[in-house]
Amino acid sequence: MQRSKETSTLKLDKKKPAKKPQDKQLNCNTCGLYKFPLSPKMEPYGNFRKEIMLIGEAPGETEDDRGKPFQGKSGRMLGKFLKRIGVDMFEDCIIVNAIRCHPDENRTPHKKEIDCCRVLLKETINEYMPKVIIPLGGVAVQSLIGDRWKLDLGGITKWRGWTIPDQDLKCWICPTYHPSFVLRDEEDAAVDNIFQRDLENAFQHTQLPFPKNAPFEIEIIHDLSPLNDIKADLAAFDIETTGLKPHATGHRVVCASVADSPAHAYAFMIPGTRREREPFLGFLRNKAIGKMAHNIKFEDTWCRHRLRTAVENWQFDSMLAAHIIDNREGITSLKFQTYINFGIIDYASKVTPYLYGTDYKNANSHNRIYDADPDDLLFYCGCDSIYEYRLAMRQINEINYSFLPF
Ligand code: URA
Repeated sequence: MQRSKETSTLKLDKKKPAKKPQDKQLNCNTCGLYKFPLSPKMEPYGNFRKEIMLIGEAPGETEDDRGKPFQGKSGRMLGKFLKRIGVDMFEDCIIVNAIRCHPDENRTPHKKEIDCCRVLLKETINEYMPKVIIPLGGVAVQSLIGDRWKLDLGGITKWRGWTIPDQDLKCWICPTYHPSFVLRDEEDAAVDNIFQRDLENAFQHTQLPFPKNAPFEIEIIHDLSPLNDIKADLAAFDIETTGLKPHATGHRVVCASVADSPAHAYAFMIPGTRREREPFLGFLRNKAIGKMAHNIKFEDTWCRHRLRTAVENWQFDSMLAAHIIDNREGITSLKFQTYINFGIIDYASKVTPYLYGTDYKNANSHNRIYDADPDDLLFYCGCDSIYEYRLAMRQINEINYSFLPF
């Protein structure tokens, strides 16, 4: 992705953020768990013939005795499900645990232990370069992405079943339940079916090419007149505002972006005068351009109240479509959808802290958007409309959506 040099006069050279002191201290010594088990720092195990990596939670007692992962009941259960799809667990996979050492009393590992052990997991991924990684359960997901996913991670129910083309790790990530959960719910055929389907789907991805994120350009403009020349039938747009709701005194639309294709977006601050804004308002009013957004209600309400413009020809809401495609809780945000569909895990964390209201109990409160670096803000806003556009195209294809004639 690039920002257009000709059209941007915003400063692009920024200092790297200082490393937090605790980042340096995450290792076996700071964790200390290795001092107690029979088999400390358990090595990855398996012949990796089909280039699949399985990530468990932590060695249990049996595993600690034998010095190998997945030797007990959970392991047998997982092996049985994998066998049904033609995968031999120890021949075809490499097996690692989020935590390499058996935690006392078989307890769930602490976050700090997961953070300390992550460095070993990353080393193993770099060494094996698997085609598919299957994190089994929430601890495995936290270990694999907890340092990169800056929002609330939530539970495994939200993550299972996706096949994520992770652009950092350059492999498919296909989370599913931990086998101990499937064992616990042995009577529940639905859980068995879901687990089997997730594993099968993950395995099929070993045969698929890994998709690279296509490049795009975010063109930062100060004079909005290029918006007058947009010829596209469809465009995605996104706005950044001073809060969640526009009605309280002093709220404003601060900046916006318009993606006129999946590879190009304009991003701009909203100018002070109506005359300067007119190309954007004209775009919003233009009946010949179908509009897409991620949560139409937000853009529509703000444009009406704060830009005094009714958006014409709404065509597609990618947030609504995400909910129609899968109605689980906590999965419809653009950030989540961008990760699971395109493998981009974090394009927003520099800016999102400034977009939360200062009073979290009051939906009318103002955020700190004016403290954000304008360059970061516009890049973020541009990415939003690019990913909205790309997401919408995928969803339209998936649900076989027919546009209304316009
Ligand atoms: N459960 C796990 O998560 N890993 C093992 O190795 C054994 C049981």
